[in-house]
Amino acid sequence: MFDVAIKNGLCFVNGEFVQANIGIEGNLIAYVGRDDICGDLEIDAREKIVIPGLFNAHTHLAMTIFRGYAEDLPLKDWLEKKIWRVEKLLEPEDVYWGSLLGILEMLKTGTTAFSDLYIHMDEVAKAVGESGIRAVLSYGMADRGSKEKADLELKIGTEFIKNWDNAFNGRIRAIFGPHAPYTCTPEFLKRVKDAAIELNTYVHIHVAETKWEVEHVKSVYGKTPVRLLDEIGFLDERTVIAHAIWLDDNEMRILKERNVSVVHCPISNLKLASGIARVKDLHDLGINVCLGTDGASSNNTYNLFEEIKMTSLLQKVITGRADALKAKEVLKMATENGYRAYGIKGGKLERGYLADIVLIDRRRHNYCPMYDPLHSLVYASYGCEVTHVIVDGELLVEDGIVLTLDEDKIMDKVESLKEKFEES
Ligand SMILES: [Zn+2]
Repeated sequence: MFDVAIKNGLCFVNGEFVQANIGIEGNLIAYVGRDDICGDLEIDAREKIVIPGLFNAHTHLAMTIFRGYAEDLPLKDWLEKKIWRVEKLLEPEDVYWGSLLGILEMLKTGTTAFSDLYIHMDEVAKAVGESGIRAVLSYGMADRGSKEKADLELKIGTEFIKNWDNAFNGRIRAIFGPHAPYTCTPEFLKRVKDAAIELNTYVHIHVAETKWEVEHVKSVYGKTPVRLLDEIGFLDERTVIAHAIWLDDNEMRILKERNVSVVHCPISNLKLASGIARVKDLHDLGINVCLGTDGASSNNTYNLFEEIKMTSLLQKVITGRADALKAKEVLKMATENGYRAYGIKGGKLERGYLADIVLIDRRRHNYCPMYDPLHSLVYASYGCEVTHVIVDGELLVEDGIVLTLDEDKIMDKVESLKEKFEES
């Protein structure tokens, strides 16, 4: 008798879809196979596709509040003229409600875990705790060349880790999140890395997102962001870099040698006109590539199914090869690679892995006819086909309803926040 039994689903196991039953004990997958099993809670999955939960590996969750606020601008103007200005007005409670809205959207579209880098992170942690989702959280730090600011930022970032790492039965992992090589000095980044090593934790940072960034860092420090980071000993298997668009071949080899993980955020990169990352080349080199949405202000959704399809399509067009990235590889990027990037044993339907599982309705017009569930999922999903979501062994979404959150209350609250930012 398991705590939860998911019965007769078409399950993504070892890279293939097979008919199977899944037994959950506590927060772990305890059984995957053909035996008839029972559970305290039984979920009939006869009409479902069952996959490991999606991992959104780069977000600024509470930016749901700025969804639609700064449109049709390149990254530099978008940040300097619009976003950094309104972010100064953000109060902790705003971040709490904005985060809940982001979590609501992610759970409803099959995301079981995310990695967030933002401000007022205690509020994000609270929202994670209440909702039941899994998260890797980091306070977004930037010293901007000031020693005083550097000390303060590192203090806030370190305290956040000490207060929240492993909270809620380990559902929260707290790590460091320095913003980028153009907002943080090499001296500060070196201090962050030393602190990360001391605390045995990860670092999540934006790198090589725009051509401007690479030119700017080169003009100030005489080398490109990746070479600069490598020189100060910043890059290793506990470093996760978001974007990685403007890289030369040599920099890609450096990332491979240092075992750095890369988060590809195709839609944000397109929307801000930042560029298209060479994901096929990164993948072919053996670099762990995972997927992220980035913030809701530059996407504008937290629906990882859109990133899955976009990742596949973009690599086809930039390589001129329709088989550039196979559907199976892209699905792995959205699931197990995200978990692997942050050292969490999840993202696979396998005994001993975390019970983060998503059930998807097969009886949908957009999946009909279904020659291969893999291709239906990767190329024909809207995200709203998700019916059930389990995180850490707990059922959080049932028949499309998020059990832990009050959807109307969250939407009303965030809608009412708009006024404050509209006027500024
Ligand atoms: Zn970002």
